[in-house]
Amino acid sequence: MAHYQQDFFPADRISAELPAINRQAGLAHLEKFVPLAGSSYTKGRNFDRGRDNHSAVSRLSAHLRRRSITEEEVLGAVLKHHSFSASEKFILEIFWRGYFKGWLANRPSVWNEFVQYHHANAGNAGTDTESSRRAISGKTGISCFDSWVDELKTSYYLHNHARMWFASIWIFTLGLDWQSGAAFFARYLRDFCPASNTLGWRWVAGLHTQGKHYLATAENIARCTDNRFNPVGQLDETAMPLSGAPHPPAYFSNPETPVVSSPYLLLATAEDCHLESLALACPPAAVISLPAAMGDSSWIEGVPAMRCAETLAFDKDAISESAGRASAYFDCPHHELADSPHSAALADSLAGYAEQFRTDRIVTAYPGVGFWQTHLDSLSGQLPTGQIDVVMRAYDRLTIGAAKKGFFPFKAHIPDWLGQLLDA
Ligand SMILES: Cc1cc2nc3c(=O)[nH]c(=O)nc-3n(C[C@H](O)[C@H](O)[C@H](O)COP(=O)(O)OP(=O)(O)OC[C@H]3O[C@@H](n4cnc5c(N)ncnc54)[C@H](O)[C@@H]3O)c2cc1C
Repeated sequence: MAHYQQDFFPADRISAELPAINRQAGLAHLEKFVPLAGSSYTKGRNFDRGRDNHSAVSRLSAHLRRRSITEEEVLGAVLKHHSFSASEKFILEIFWRGYFKGWLANRPSVWNEFVQYHHANAGNAGTDTESSRRAISGKTGISCFDSWVDELKTSYYLHNHARMWFASIWIFTLGLDWQSGAAFFARYLRDFCPASNTLGWRWVAGLHTQGKHYLATAENIARCTDNRFNPVGQLDETAMPLSGAPHPPAYFSNPETPVVSSPYLLLATAEDCHLESLALACPPAAVISLPAAMGDSSWIEGVPAMRCAETLAFDKDAISESAGRASAYFDCPHHELADSPHSAALADSLAGYAEQFRTDRIVTAYPGVGFWQTHLDSLSGQLPTGQIDVVMRAYDRLTIGAAKKGFFPFKAHIPDWLGQLLDA
């Protein structure tokens, strides 16, 4: 199987001033943003003012996505400063990720099909044509699109509106597969989230809400970029939505919270970097951090990488910082498992730690649908007990349970959830 051909992805220029992803940086960033989460966010959130001017939006996604700060912390801090009605737009956006994460948990075949497409196309899906080569190297001649390619590759972030325009131009003007666009985002976004990314692309394509697509227009781009761009005459503004077979639901049933009596090992992943706030009945015997590569397709030998080394490096640092913090909080040792593309080798090391700490219980936070879940399943299958217990947060239990249809019935629960989550 061929791997990514490096010339499709010319060496990235890495922005020197990228903020770290860890709890301290996340909390400091939250504190600065909170005063802006009311009318400033409501009025300014749709404007993409360029790569160093995204101050109207929170840029908290890389922290929220890894839970180095939790949804409850962000919602609580915002509601201490603003009324619900003043900050409603921001609060709804926070819950959009919970909605997508829940929706994917209830229809995991959407993710599996996307990953299969990536594997079947040897990781360079849709990138081996002249048109796609121009797109991913930012040489389409559509200056807004080319500029977003550069911004994405150098800052690992794009404003939400830019993501929508980008995906729309990719699919409807350039005629490229949505899956190759979603893989391109997955490669570079430092907030890459299997649910928000896959479903964000499908939403733009008209596959999430069947028949309703998102068409970028030159007028909207000009207005919402303060006329930095005006691709008049360059976009297909009349394309029809894509169509595809609907995915039947396979509703997620919330697992019982495992009754864990000491000793047990607590696994640190990039999916939940605030282990201290998990509902754990007693402290672990040790915290074990798993390799960041488990957040990518390439963890399975012979399968091409989807994500780039730089965004995986953010995961590695976030896991390491979270495990170190948890070990101090629980007053227990911390060990790091060396990267290995074999679940059997990793399972052996884990079984060694289990023996050292005289336990057969291994626990981790619910990872959501995505690479981590797939690889944790394969790892647990190799363990002598064949099991890793999953602890779910109340936030996930509530949102997954309600994410079965559209966002409107889902959002009706939000006031009640805020009461439950923030009063707890
Ligand atoms: C094609 C496409 C791909 C996307 N891929 C990702 C992804 O991989 N990871 C990711 O976290 N978000 C993704 N999004 C959603 C959204 O663009 C980002 O969450 C947002 O731009 C992050 O910037 P921010 O933190 O400044 O957002 P803010 O506007 O400040 O929003 C606050 C938080 O709400 C959540 N949020 C906001 N908008 C959305 C949304 N439309 N869908 C889901 N959650 C949202 C995020 O956690 C975000 O941090 C995608 C959207 C599209 C259209």
